[in-house]
This record gives sequence, structure tokens and C-alpha cells, in this order.
Amino acid sequence: MLKKMLFSPFFRTIRAPLSFLCLLAFALAAVYAQSPAVTLTPEVVVAGSPELIRVVAANASAIDGQWLDRKLEFFRGQDDHGWFALAGVDVEAPVGTSVLKLTIHETKGGSHALNRTIKILPAHYRTSALTVAPQFVQPGPDALKQIAADQVLTQKAYASSASMPLWKGNFHVPVVAPQTERFGTRRIFNGTLASNHKGLDFRAAPGTPVRASNDGTVVLAHSLYYAGNSVFVDHGMGLFTLYMHFSKISVREGQHVVRGQKLGLSGATGRVTGPHLHWAVRWQGAYLDPAKLLRLDLSAAR
Ligand SMILES: [Zn+2]
Repeated sequence: MLKKMLFSPFFRTIRAPLSFLCLLAFALAAVYAQSPAVTLTPEVVVAGSPELIRVVAANASAIDGQWLDRKLEFFRGQDDHGWFALAGVDVEAPVGTSVLKLTIHETKGGSHALNRTIKILPAHYRTSALTVAPQFVQPGPDALKQIAADQVLTQKAYASSASMPLWKGNFHVPVVAPQTERFGTRRIFNGTLASNHKGLDFRAAPGTPVRASNDGTVVLAHSLYYAGNSVFVDHGMGLFTLYMHFSKISVREGQHVVRGQKLGLSGATGRVTGPHLHWAVRWQGAYLDPAKLLRLDLSAAR
């Protein structure tokens, strides 16, 4: 029966196109298997989210790219899990469609481009009104001078990020204290000045030890007008964690710190309504939600 069918004139006419279709299916499957897979965690991208970008690309020797006008540099993950970049969307970034542009450099030479469309969804942050000392809303000439000097210091610190990731594994909470003010809250100071709360506040009693949330290098250990006694830790590739309002700083600039190492004691220096730790996460100038960074599982990356 089968023999009869295979040698039938009908089968002879469809044999060539059928083999062609089979070949095409195999070829498509092969291309699909080799085409790089790009995943973002968290999957739902909102203004203020940190994003772990993972690219699985066979035969890549390096990967770089661009997203939201920022440079992406990928590093090789643990145990052949692919390539990773720890990036994010600024709290004030507009919602809508963005394009993640990647360049895959191949081991055998040459490179190819790969684009992915990423939708940025609105985040729902609340509004709160606060009262602070008048000199923090309308700084006088001396204060303005200090604010300008602070900017030079902080820009220098941000410009000194290591070219490789210094962090290892997940980020940990920097202080044992209740969280009082969430990230992203729109704040009205003394009825006028409005800004986004670009960090997370912990109601830490003065003198509570504040610890590095991950490994890195101290790039700033200084008193600033608004932030008070502050410590900035560089985690490499443009990622920093910032710790503010200390009563005492225990580290020096240039010092390498490991996760859990004491950076200083919490306090109430700078623009504050009371003693607390303000903790911020900054990546290439974008402020990211520290609470979301704490929830990211980074173990496959480093
Ligand atoms: Zn704060």
C-alpha cells in the first residue's frame, strides 16, 4: 500500500515541493535556535525599575548596546548563563515605547545588530507634603556656593565608575530599620518646591550602623548640603548606591568594601525632617527603585 502510494504519479509531483518545505522548516528552526534570546527582569518595565538584561547569543565575544540614551555594557554570566547588563529606567523617564539596541560581536569576527522594542509602563507613585527648615527650600548665597561645590564633588564621583561589575550576588538592605518613605513619591516641600523622592527612607535611630548593600569602592565620603554626611559606593559599570544623612562616616574614599561592611552610623544631617537613612540607587544618572533592586535575583549573573 505504502509502496503504491510513494510511487504514485501524485506523490511524484508533490515530492520536490514537499522536500523543499521540510528543508525550509529545518532551516527556520536552526535560525530560531541560534538567534539571540533577550530577556528583561522584571518583565514589566516601569519608570524607576532596575532591569537585569540577559542575552543568550551563541558565538558572541562581546555585547554592547544602547537604551534610553545610555550605554549598555554586557558581562559574561556564571556557568554559561549568557550575557548580562544591570540597567534601569529613570523614575522620570516618559512612558511609551523604547528601543533596546544591541550589537553582538562574534568570536569569528564581525558583528551584527539586534533591536528589541521595550514598552515602558506608567508607575503609580503617590504625592506627599513635607515641611523642612526654610534655608533648604530657598538657600542663601553661602549655601548656593556649597551646593555648587557639592555638584563638582558628586560629578567627579559618578565619573569614576569601574569598567567591570564589582558587585557579587544579590543586593542587601543597608540597615535594620522600618521603611518610612517609598521611592518615587512626588514631594511638595513647604507648599512650593516639588521633586521626586529618588530613594528609599529607613527610620533608623541615630547611631544605627549602615552597611554596604553589595561589594564596591567608596567614591565619596563627604558632607553635602542637602544629603548631609554621605557615602557613595561604586558597583561598576555606572551603578552606584548612595547613603545619606549619617552622623558619622566610617570609610574613606578609594576604600574597597564588601557587602555588609559598616559604612557609618545613621543620623539627621542635611535636609531632613528627622533622623533617617536615605538610600538611593543610581545607574548612569538614572534613579532606580532600591526596593526593586533588593528583590532582583542576580545569582545567575554574578
Ligand atoms: Zn529620602
